[in-house]
Amino acid sequence: MNVVTRFAPSPTGHLHIGGARTAIFCWLMARHYKGQFHLRIEDTDLLRSRQEYTDSILASMKWLGLDWDGELTYQTQRMDLYRQYVNRLLESGQAYWCSCTAEEVDAMRQKAKELGLKPRYNGHCRDLHLGPGEGRCVRLKCPQEGKIVFDDMVKGRIAVDVSELDDMVLQRADGTPTYNMAVVVDDHEMGITHVIRGDDHVSNTPRQILIYRALGFQEPVFGHVPMILGSDGAKLSKRHGARAVIEYEKDGLLPHALVNYLVRLGWSHGDQEIFSLDELVELFDGTHLNPSAARFDVNKLQWLNAHYMRALPVAELARLVRPFAEEAGYGDLSDERLQGLCTLFRERAKTLVELAAAFAPMLVGTADLAYDEKAVTKNIRPETKERLQALATVLKTCEPFEAEHLNTVFNDFVKDNNLTFKDIAPALRTALVGFMGGSHLHDIMAFLGREETLARIERTLSL
Ligand code: GLU
Repeated sequence: MNVVTRFAPSPTGHLHIGGARTAIFCWLMARHYKGQFHLRIEDTDLLRSRQEYTDSILASMKWLGLDWDGELTYQTQRMDLYRQYVNRLLESGQAYWCSCTAEEVDAMRQKAKELGLKPRYNGHCRDLHLGPGEGRCVRLKCPQEGKIVFDDMVKGRIAVDVSELDDMVLQRADGTPTYNMAVVVDDHEMGITHVIRGDDHVSNTPRQILIYRALGFQEPVFGHVPMILGSDGAKLSKRHGARAVIEYEKDGLLPHALVNYLVRLGWSHGDQEIFSLDELVELFDGTHLNPSAARFDVNKLQWLNAHYMRALPVAELARLVRPFAEEAGYGDLSDERLQGLCTLFRERAKTLVELAAAFAPMLVGTADLAYDEKAVTKNIRPETKERLQALATVLKTCEPFEAEHLNTVFNDFVKDNNLTFKDIAPALRTALVGFMGGSHLHDIMAFLGREETLARIERTLSL
């Protein structure tokens, strides 16, 4: 099957998760069928569009790994093209010039409402054969009866009576195209076969189909994905933990965790929750898109992120956490040290920010190590101090001071002294890390080295 999809954001803000999910669906569909995925910047709203938002959207697309084919398209660079097509419709008599002012159109709508009808333009200029002129827009001469029917990839069959629609504006009085006109021209010119977008556009689709028909263009397949709601079913907002993609990046989420999460929020393959990118490309064929709105669950997103942080090769995780470690001010860390830190702390961190924060106790000098008061009260007591002191004596001379051997030494110490792990492990952990976190004690000791390990035990004895 020939598949060409597109993502068409308006650069009036950063890429949000709703938009990102649409982009991912379009991208996956194109990659699944070995087709093409285009990116088009819908920047015709000159007042609200900004270059910085375009840059930010592109950066988020790249971060998510959504590469696009061919040149980026900007609608503002295609104004002549839209005008040509509007002229074509004027010449064939399928569009007409309209001189009605905004106030007049408002009055028509008001009147229709009062009569209990749909508020609509009443076709005043339809047969006046006006030419171009100051303040005149161009309207489509819509059919006056019949139904527009299309099979939506997500919502199934949708039928709209044309009496619901009016002669829509194609070109405004200032010569700019309306959204519906520009989108149809672009989707046709770019050879788009599948238009997947948010269902806030579903009411535009019958109008766009009328333009396709007037221009004699082949209609694409449409798919309207429902909105993402907050966990309480209300409109999604910051309050629900929903943010722009760029903010998730700053929070230390892995891009694939966000991709995996967003795909599942509106598409399913049985009960499977975890998908590699290759699997998604293999499985996502445009079916099984959920017609009901999904609820955003920040905990599930973090759960997935934690999963991917554990599953990544440690060298890759270290590469990803490096900017966060630099941001935290740890100075220069070799790849080896960073990987060591990742191994120690990755099990419990849910984001890269949390992971980097967990490194702190390993990187400060003993004198600056902060102790969690609760951990100290609970774990550092006279009898545990005695045990720590005895352990320190063993650690002073044991060779080599390496993880595997330290594991044996520690186990032997516990056994030889008729102890259980509980009798000493929490105390040692508090001494070494300052709180009840981190991974295996022998790994922590190996990372710190003998001198630092002994210094930390020593300091705890005087608490
Ligand atoms: N530019 C539109 C938006 O950001 C998308 C239009 C479309 O996909 O047709 O909502």
